[in-house]
Amino acid sequence: MDRSDLPDATDVAAAAARLAGVAHRTPVLTSRTADAATGATLFFKCENLQRGGAFKFRGAYNAIAALPADRRRAGVVAYSSGNHAQAIAYAARLLGVPATIVMPQDAPAAKLAATRGYGGEVVLYDRYADDREAIGRRLAAERGLSLIPPYDHRDVIAGQGTAARELLEETGPLDVLVACLGGGGLAAGTVLAAEAAAPGCAVWGVEPEAGDDGRRSLAEGRIVHIDVPKTIADGAQTQHLGELTFAILRRGAAGIATASDAALVDAMRFFAERMKLVVEPTGALAAAAVFSGAIPVRGKRVGVILSGGNVDVARFAALLQGS
Ligand SMILES: *Cc1c(COP(=O)(O)O)cnc(C)c1O
Repeated sequence: MDRSDLPDATDVAAAAARLAGVAHRTPVLTSRTADAATGATLFFKCENLQRGGAFKFRGAYNAIAALPADRRRAGVVAYSSGNHAQAIAYAARLLGVPATIVMPQDAPAAKLAATRGYGGEVVLYDRYADDREAIGRRLAAERGLSLIPPYDHRDVIAGQGTAARELLEETGPLDVLVACLGGGGLAAGTVLAAEAAAPGCAVWGVEPEAGDDGRRSLAEGRIVHIDVPKTIADGAQTQHLGELTFAILRRGAAGIATASDAALVDAMRFFAERMKLVVEPTGALAAAAVFSGAIPVRGKRVGVILSGGNVDVARFAALLQGS
């Protein structure tokens, strides 16, 4: 891959302009309790309070808004069981663009209903028998739709980078920035934002302990593929990094840490009890790695992205009760 294929800080700035007045400029919260426990000064960027309940809205909206008018009219297609699908459906509706979403037939009823509620056409597939990427590509070819993948896409990465860009605008220079890591869209976008606004800032990605393909990929210098990891962090059950996200993380990430499911629940409990925030398991990855000491933060100014808050209440309660 040519370096010029990769998005850069200019793309993040363009995304910020497209998202101005559309995406929420989410709050940055602090906690003396968390600072005392870690010996650091922590700034939590609350993307659980973003439109659609996760940072995914940023990349989805940016990618659709960046399409030329004729491609927009034809419509977009996305495959995802989670936050990306809902973000595409939501952003497409705001932009008046038809959206087709490929979802597993056993996806939670609430997620199917939410996607349809945003006006998206849902195409169901069997997650044990069908290849969703192939279905997405076929629909794109047959219907002339633009396929917007969940992370390995220039405008998606640039859009996700606007969260860290806003955070840095608000806090000034940071020593460390921590983002959760699935396919790497958010972490790669964070690298781009930090390279421009905070050179020298160490950007960390955090993935579930059960699925450390990202860490292994950086260590081995190639994209490592794994089986679907068994973890409560359902937004980070990706099996491999993307080509673009891998290239950016390889160049710019300080490291990749992991967090156990137990550490995720501890972090979720902390946010609920002490900061009155509902954070979904995947959304707690970055904070869990900071709290558990997996990332060196003592004495440093640290940005931590809380990536999402989409967890239904019954599951949230069950996780916190340890059942
Ligand atoms: C998608 C998602 C992630 C993982 O993001 P990537 O860009 O795939 O690394 C993390 N947290 C939440 C809440 C998500 O929806």
